[in-house]
Amino acid sequence: MPDISFQQDIDRYRALRIAPQGLFIDGQVMPAARGATLDTVSPIDGQTLTTIADGDTVDIDRAVAAARAAFERGVWSCTAPAQRKKVLLRFAELIEAHALELAVLGVRDNGTEIGMAYKAEPLSAATTIRYYAEAIDKVYGEVAPTAPQTLALMLREPLGVVGVIVPWNFPLMIGAWKIGPALAAGNSVVVKPPEIASLSLLRLAQLASEAGLPDGVLNVVTGRGSTAGEALGLHMDVDAIAFTGSGAVGRRLLEYSGRSNLKRVYLELGGKSPNIVFADVPDIKNAAKVSANGIFRNSGQVCVAGSRLLVQSSVYDRFLDELMTVTARLKIGDPLDLGSDIGAVSSATQLQKNLAFVARTEQEGGRLLCGGDRLHVETGGYYMAPAVFADVAPEMTLAREEVFGPVLAVMRFETEEEAVRLANATPYGLASAVWTSNLSTAHRMIKAIRAGVVHVNTYGGADITVPLGGFKQSGFGRDKSLHALNEYTDLKTAWIVL
Ligand code: NAD
Repeated sequence: MPDISFQQDIDRYRALRIAPQGLFIDGQVMPAARGATLDTVSPIDGQTLTTIADGDTVDIDRAVAAARAAFERGVWSCTAPAQRKKVLLRFAELIEAHALELAVLGVRDNGTEIGMAYKAEPLSAATTIRYYAEAIDKVYGEVAPTAPQTLALMLREPLGVVGVIVPWNFPLMIGAWKIGPALAAGNSVVVKPPEIASLSLLRLAQLASEAGLPDGVLNVVTGRGSTAGEALGLHMDVDAIAFTGSGAVGRRLLEYSGRSNLKRVYLELGGKSPNIVFADVPDIKNAAKVSANGIFRNSGQVCVAGSRLLVQSSVYDRFLDELMTVTARLKIGDPLDLGSDIGAVSSATQLQKNLAFVARTEQEGGRLLCGGDRLHVETGGYYMAPAVFADVAPEMTLAREEVFGPVLAVMRFETEEEAVRLANATPYGLASAVWTSNLSTAHRMIKAIRAGVVHVNTYGGADITVPLGGFKQSGFGRDKSLHALNEYTDLKTAWIVL
C-alpha cells in the first residue's frame, strides 16, 4: 500500500524547478569553457527539465589539473585515514539527509520507479560511502617473511587521479561504488556522468564539498561520452579509469589507455544473465515472482538482469503460467507514483532500441506471449509493456545480445548438461541464478557457470560487503567490498637492509 505522506514529499520535490547546471571543478560551479549546454529531457513526460553544461577536452583538462593539484598539495591524499573517515562519514550522513531529494531528482532524469530508486540510489550510495569510510583506518600494510637481515614492507598508496565514467541506469549507486573506495584510499577523482542522467551526481559532489572534502578532490564534468568521456580516457595525467557501461565503450577505453599513458582501466560491462529453473524448484510461485522482478524492475535496465530464463521441460508450461500471471499484474506508469511497479524507459532512443529488438525477435520466429509495445503515449513519456518471448532458440539474436530493456527470452532445457551449455553460450558472464532443492545440483552449477555471481534460489541479492563484477566480456575489476580498495591503490615495496 503506497505511503500517502511519502507520496506528498515526493510530489513536493517533483514540483521544484531545476536551475541550469554547471560543471563542478575545484569546489566551484562553472559553465563549460566554450559555454555549450545540453538539454536534459525527462522520460516521465518527454519534456525538457533543464540544461547541463556540455563539457569537453578543455573542461576535462581543468578538472584533471584541479584534481592533480589537490593530490600534490596533500590536502586529502596525505591526511590520516581517520581524518578521511570523518569527512566521508559526514558525507554519508548528508546523502541520507537529502535522500528523497536526490532520489526524486534522479527519477525525473532517468525514469526509475521511485521505490527502487530511493533504496538503490541515495540510500545505497550512503551505505557505500560509509562502508569505505569505516574500512579505511582498518586496512594494514604487510611485512614479508624475508631473511632476518632484511625487512620488506608492502605498502598501499593512492594512485593519484582517478576518472570515473558511469551509465544512466543507477548513476549514484554505481558512482558511489567507485568514488567511495577511490576517495577513501586518498585519490582525487574526476567524474563524467551519463549525459542523459547527470543531475544527481552533480548534487552529490556539492554534498561532498559541504561535508568538508577539500576543493579539487572530487570534480564532475558533464558532457558527451564522445567528447568529455574520450578526453578523460585519453588524458595523460589520469592514473586510472573506473568504468561501468557498454562493451563498445569499454573497448574504446582500453584503446585510449594504449594510445595515452597506459592508465589502468576497470570495466563493468553488460550481461545476458541466465536464470535457470530446475524441475525441483522449491516454491514455483515465489520463483516466478522473483524472476519477473529480476528482469523487469527498472524496465530491465539493470546490468545483472536475468534476461534469459532457462526452464526444465517438465515444469516449463507451469512456470510460464505463473510468470505470465505475475507479469500481467505489474503496473507500469509514472515512476514518481508509489503505486507504479515499473517506471519509464530512460530515453526515447532506448525505447526505440527496445521496440526494434521486439520486432526483430518476432521476425526471427520468436513467440511473443505478452507486452513489447509502447504504453501511455499520451503522456509524452517513454513507457513499455514488459515482453516475454517463449521457446527462444539459442541462435536467435535475443538469446545472445543484451537488450537492456524489459524483454525476456524464455528457453527450455532437458538436462543439467544442457542447462550449463546454454547458460555459458554467450560472450557475457556477469550474473546468473539457479533454482533447485538439490544441494549437489546447486554446487555443481555454481562451479560450472562462468559468471561473477551465481544466485541460488533467489535472483539479485547483493550487499556492499560482496564484490560485483564480470567474467568474460562482462569486464574485469571488482566494485564493492574490500577487494575494490585494491583497484584504487598501488602496491609499493620497501626493501630495507638491517
Ligand atoms: P554507454 O557505454 O553508452 O555509456 C556509459 C558511459 O560512458 C556514459 O557516461 C557515456 O557518456 C560514456 N561514454 C560514451 N562514449 C564514450 C567514449 N567514447 N569515451 C568515454 N566515455 C564514453 O552505456 P549506457 O548506455 O550508459 O549504459 C548501458 C550499458 O551499461 C549496458 O550495456 C549495461 O549492461 C551496462 N551496465 C553495466 C553495469 C555493470 O555493473 N556491469 C551496470 C550498469 C550498466
